[in-house]
Amino acid sequence: MKCIICENWSFSIICKTCQSIHLKPTIYHRQIKKGLEVYSFYKYEEIENLLSAKYNFFGDRVLKILAELTYKKFAREFSFTEEVLAIPIDDHTRLEYAYSAILAKELNSKYIKTIYNHLRANTIVKYSGKNNKFRENNPKDFELKNIKNRKIILVDDLINSGTTLKEAFKVCSKNNEVLFAICLADASF
Ligand SMILES: [Zn+2]
Repeated sequence: MKCIICENWSFSIICKTCQSIHLKPTIYHRQIKKGLEVYSFYKYEEIENLLSAKYNFFGDRVLKILAELTYKKFAREFSFTEEVLAIPIDDHTRLEYAYSAILAKELNSKYIKTIYNHLRANTIVKYSGKNNKFRENNPKDFELKNIKNRKIILVDDLINSGTTLKEAFKVCSKNNEVLFAICLADASF
């Protein structure tokens, strides 16, 4: 097949050369509220074009490559004194399917166990294109099911204002300890 970036022949839809030149992750860090540290690997503008591929056939394969370059490597170097749960945020702000679950899957490792469908939004409000005021006035009403006294890593695809993450953090912190959140890209830079 052809690499979707350079159009040279490649075994993967993004060739190894383009992966190392264009998709080298950096670790960005932000504290969006007290106790909630957020790490991300790209500025949103760096991967915006690739993520828009969600509208075509390649969407999930692009995302898997990005997840392998970032979350998977992160998980390999991560260690902790007990098993930590990675919880994808069930949120489809820009996306047709659960991007956060595809990303979180790559965190599954020696110290991290990814669990799905435990953090659910009770409302199906769409945030895409809405301002912060709208987001604050229309909370997702998250619910965390059957998890207590655990260490948690929250996983989302994009962070902008952090409204969604703050809400998820609040709910998950009630009976657990949220260590940090990891997003693929930060749109605030
Ligand atoms: Zn290429």
